[in-house]
Amino acid sequence: MAWGEELLALLPGQVEFGEGARAEVAGDLSPVRQMRVLRGEAMALPAAVVRARVPEDVQAVLRFASGRGLKVVARGGGSGVVGGVAAGPEAIVLDLRPMDAIGPLDVESGVVVVEAGCILARLEERLRAHGLTTGHYPQSIGLASVGGLVATRSCGQYSTRYGSIEQMVVGLDVVTSDGEFLHLGRPPRRALGPEAAPLMLGGEGTLGVITSVTLAAWPLPEAEEFRAYAFDSFAQGLEAMRGLTRAGLPLGVIRLYDRDDALHGFPGLLPDQGVDALLLLSCLGPREVAQGGVAAADRIGLEVGGRRLGGEIARHWLETRNDVSEWDRYLSAGVLVDTVECGATWSRLPVAYDAALAAVRAVPEVVAVFAHAAHAEATGASLYFTFAAVPLPQGDAAELQSRVWDALLSAVAREGASVGHHHGVGRLRQTWTWRERQGELDLLERLRAALDPGRLLNPGALWPD
Ligand SMILES: Cc1cc2nc3c(=O)[nH]c(=O)nc-3n(C[C@H](O)[C@H](O)[C@H](O)COP(=O)(O)OP(=O)(O)OC[C@H]3O[C@@H](n4cnc5c(N)ncnc54)[C@H](O)[C@@H]3O)c2cc1C
Repeated sequence: MAWGEELLALLPGQVEFGEGARAEVAGDLSPVRQMRVLRGEAMALPAAVVRARVPEDVQAVLRFASGRGLKVVARGGGSGVVGGVAAGPEAIVLDLRPMDAIGPLDVESGVVVVEAGCILARLEERLRAHGLTTGHYPQSIGLASVGGLVATRSCGQYSTRYGSIEQMVVGLDVVTSDGEFLHLGRPPRRALGPEAAPLMLGGEGTLGVITSVTLAAWPLPEAEEFRAYAFDSFAQGLEAMRGLTRAGLPLGVIRLYDRDDALHGFPGLLPDQGVDALLLLSCLGPREVAQGGVAAADRIGLEVGGRRLGGEIARHWLETRNDVSEWDRYLSAGVLVDTVECGATWSRLPVAYDAALAAVRAVPEVVAVFAHAAHAEATGASLYFTFAAVPLPQGDAAELQSRVWDALLSAVAREGASVGHHHGVGRLRQTWTWRERQGELDLLERLRAALDPGRLLNPGALWPD
């Protein structure tokens, strides 16, 4: 590699060419890739890894790469599940994890600046010491970086109360492909024309490299009260979820599981009969607000036909909500387990759910599929499907995954749902994304061309190249 010595001289002590270092950052946690890694298959590796410590390192790498026809793939926690990070020999991986400083923190206003590589759980721990929280709790809270969460338009378990990441970001710093450093946005809101910061939300490392993020933080709630209800059908549960959300309750979390998802997620905790859907919710705030919220939830939930279940459901959810340890067991045994999310308005959710299940069950290799609805907001919610499929002896797991995704996402698109809710696009969801967003593509492509004319940044991700 002719340029290797030059890069080492540019950023001494921060560049690695070793196979182990390159393998560790070459991809993300998308299930087919993970299956191959667990089975010891050889994977493509990037040319080098640069551990970025300060924004000037990011600038230096981008300028270095653009002069030599190299590509640059930004990487945070590597917890993406759609192939957002996938670096081959033409690419340098920019590992942002060393850029993890927190501060300044304005406790009075609830505004915190955090470097992009900081893992969210660490930020939350720091904020909690001041009685604050971002309110962003994705299942990958211990894996994902703040920059990665912004770059993928992430959504957390308490989004009904705190919003998704786009409601929390009040500013960010970014380095564009030519190495220019931009400081975008600042709190509070303003009416001074269009804002540039939101452009970077969902850019997946193709529009710029985020080096730091300014986030809103809330006081920790004084109280949280939980409830769980059983319903006779998923459709009935959705009707209750819609009513509870739109009634304006102080909801924290609200999730509706179909029967198989509930049996999987709450083993031994459901009554033997009569639970075809399980609704779990919490109300947050000052004690009397949280208590008043669940009292109202009891009334509204029961009016729609719900039956109240015990507190063990919520306790189990709180203890296990981020545990995905069983996944590697299935993947190493050759069983493809995967998740796909979509979003729909309340009126389309029941039909999108039915259509998706029927389409996935029609794929012969599928052995199980179930779903839950979550992330409720005024106009709708997400559907989150989990499936397990066993590839045929000579079958290819990637082809099987693509077939199941096509069945599912084509079915929900026909029913008016959106083909993605919070995992992003990466290299796996492009076909369906740009089918849905065809009318916006030309404008977005022009913005991309302005920001990255040489297609230096993470080529292959997000866009339909
Ligand atoms: C077990 C598990 C549970 C999950 N649960 C959730 C969930 O509840 N909600 C949710 O939204 N997601 C969830 N995810 C998906 C994943 O955690 C998110 O997509 C997360 O936002 C990825 O962050 P990361 O730092 O790991 O990014 P990476 O995987 O490192 O990167 C993802 C994409 O962002 C780009 N990127 C990363 N950092 C930057 C940066 N600083 N500047 C520009 N681009 C950058 C990369 O190039 C890539 O395209 C889950 C994943 C797993 C494995």
